[in-house]
Amino acid sequence: MIETDNFRCWAEIDLSSIRHNAVTARERIGKEVTLLAVVKANGYSHGLARVAQCLADEAGIFGVANLEEANTCREVVPHPILILGPALPAERAEIVERGFIASVSSHEEAAEFSRHSRGQFAALNLVLDTGMGRMGIAERNAITEISAIAGLSGVEIHSVSTHLPSADDDAEFTREQLQRFAGVVQRLRAVDARPYRAHALPSAGVLGFSEHAHDIVRAGLMLYGIAPLADHQSVLKPAMTFKARIVLVRDLPAGATVSYGRTFTARSPRRVATLGVGYADGYPRALSNRGAEVLIRGTRCAVLGRVTMDLIMVDVTHLTGVGVGDEAVLFGRQGSDEILASELATRASTIAWEIFTGIGARVHRVYH
Ligand SMILES: *Cc1c(COP(=O)(O)O)cnc(C)c1O
Repeated sequence: MIETDNFRCWAEIDLSSIRHNAVTARERIGKEVTLLAVVKANGYSHGLARVAQCLADEAGIFGVANLEEANTCREVVPHPILILGPALPAERAEIVERGFIASVSSHEEAAEFSRHSRGQFAALNLVLDTGMGRMGIAERNAITEISAIAGLSGVEIHSVSTHLPSADDDAEFTREQLQRFAGVVQRLRAVDARPYRAHALPSAGVLGFSEHAHDIVRAGLMLYGIAPLADHQSVLKPAMTFKARIVLVRDLPAGATVSYGRTFTARSPRRVATLGVGYADGYPRALSNRGAEVLIRGTRCAVLGRVTMDLIMVDVTHLTGVGVGDEAVLFGRQGSDEILASELATRASTIAWEIFTGIGARVHRVYH
C-alpha cells in the first residue's frame, strides 16, 4: 500500500470494481457478444494501462480515441484495438502497419487506407451516421458506399457501426435509430455474404437497449462504475474515490467572508477546513455555491464560496476533533455515505464523463 500521508489530493482506484462492472456488462449482453472496453482519455482518468491490464480477460477488444492511445494500449495487451476517432492522414500508414482497426467515414478515406495497405490488410470500422452528425457515412448512401469499400484491395471490413446521441435522454429516438441501423445491417448482409460485425451501443445502450447489442458493444463509463441511466446505478461499483487532505482548520467569526468574490458570508461563527484540492486538480470551479458537499468522517460538509485553483474551503462546524491531515472524500464512499461522480456532475451542470476526464495530472493515482 502506497503512503498517501504527503498527498494533498489523490484518486484511489479499485481495479476489482472495474472487473465487476465488466462482468455486469457481459451478463447484460450474453456470451455471443464481444465486450469492447473503452479506455480512451487515459481510461477515463483511471489509467489506460492499468485498466486495460485488469480487463484483459473480460474484454475482447479495446477502444481508444487516437493512434497515440492505441500505442499505449498495445504495450500492455495483445487484443485487437479499435481507434474510435477519425485518423489524420499522417497517421494512416502507422495504423495499418501496427494492425489497429481504423474508423472511417467515407469511401475516400477507406481508399487512402487501401493505398497504405502494402501487402497487409487495413482493418476498418465503417461508421454510419444515423443521427450523431459527427462521423460516418450518410445512412442513405450506406449500402452503395459500403459495397464500394468492400471492393477496395487490401481492405478488410472489421465492422459496421453507428453511435447514439441520445441514449441517456431520448429512448424513443434511440429505439427508432437502432431500428434504422438494424435495417441497414440486414440489407447489407442480404447483398454481401461477408460476416460484417455490427455495433452501436455505448454504456447507456448496454444498460437500456441491450436487445440491440448486435456483435460488439462499446462500454466506457459503466466500466468505471457510473451508470448513464441512473436507474441502473445499483448494479455497478464506482471504481474511483477522489480524496483530498485537510491542510488547515480555522475558526471564522460571524461576518467573515470566504474565497474569491466573497460570495459566502458566515452568519454565525464557523469552523472551516481548507482542503488541498482545487479546479486545477479537476474539482470543477462550476461547483462554487452550488450546494456541493464533501465527506469527512462519513459526514457531509458543505463547500463554502468559490472553488479556487488549489484549495477549497468546507464547513466542519458540526464535527468534533477534525484536524490537519484528515481525509476528505470529494466523490466516492466514506463510512455509510457516498457521493457519486454523477452527483457532482449534476451540481456542476456537466456530465460524469467530464468529471472523470477532468481529474488532473497533479492528482496521484493509487491502485487497490
Ligand atoms: C467514448 C465512446 C464510447 C463509450 O461511451 P460511454 O458512454 O462512456 O460508454 C462508445 N462509442 C464511441 C464511438 C465513443 O466515442
